[in-house]
Amino acid sequence: IIDIEHLQKHFGDLQVLHDVDFNVEKGEVVTIIGSSGSGKSTLLRCINLLEIPDGGEIKYKKQNILDSSMDKGDYRSKVLMVFQSFNLFNNLNVIENCMIGQTKVLKRSKDEAKKIAMERLKQVGMEAFANSDSTRLSGGQKQRVAIARALCMDPEVLLFDEPTSALDPEMVGDVLEVMQQLAKQGLTMVIVTHEMQFAKEVSDRVIFMDRGVIAEQGTPEQIFNDPQQERTKQFLSRFA
Ligand code: ATP
Ligand code: MG
Repeated sequence: IIDIEHLQKHFGDLQVLHDVDFNVEKGEVVTIIGSSGSGKSTLLRCINLLEIPDGGEIKYKKQNILDSSMDKGDYRSKVLMVFQSFNLFNNLNVIENCMIGQTKVLKRSKDEAKKIAMERLKQVGMEAFANSDSTRLSGGQKQRVAIARALCMDPEVLLFDEPTSALDPEMVGDVLEVMQQLAKQGLTMVIVTHEMQFAKEVSDRVIFMDRGVIAEQGTPEQIFNDPQQERTKQFLSRFA
């Protein structure tokens, strides 16, 4: 569903992505692991067009979305990011957070948006908080609302950038469980994470990034049990 070829990104003199080829099939769960600064977030942000790449192609359903003639609006509403820091709208309560994209972008009626929002909140176990002030939730609750909000848009692909790294340890499990469920339901997901056990369990494919390149990729068994590259082995030994 996404095919990336020769992706390049610089920040000034610093080249952060070197010629990255990356693809995601519909229904696939891909996790990206790697050291701090290896370019994982930059890759996700390029996929989401939060950063504009300097070179290469990003094809979505075979169309190059970097092409200036392409309408990016549809793409932006179908390939959504869940952030480490949740990014809820603090001035809106929980259900309003889940409705605003539906009414503004998808032009759904308020009634319809509300109905869908409740369904999605239920899916993440947050329906009891529909009318709560979003600033008063715990981190784990905020992240589940952020996931529900994304699901309300009927995304084709969900991108997660370290969705649990800002959470207290006791809340990590709830969020990972929601993500497990989504994976089981066949949602296409790309997940940057440091939760190796989770990556092992949830992934169809694991990508190891190192200094702006994909150093190695394979099934969880291949990457975690039988890594081929010295740098993959070194990285994983830190989690052993
Ligand atoms: P982490 O695990 O710490 O989140 P990461 O793999 O996500 O790391 P990136 O955030 O993609 O790494 O950063 C890759 C490199 O690009 C780093 O050296 C970072 O300092 C640099 N970088 C990222 N964003 C910018 C920016 N907006 N301007 C300048 N440099 C940036
Ligand atoms: Mg990052």
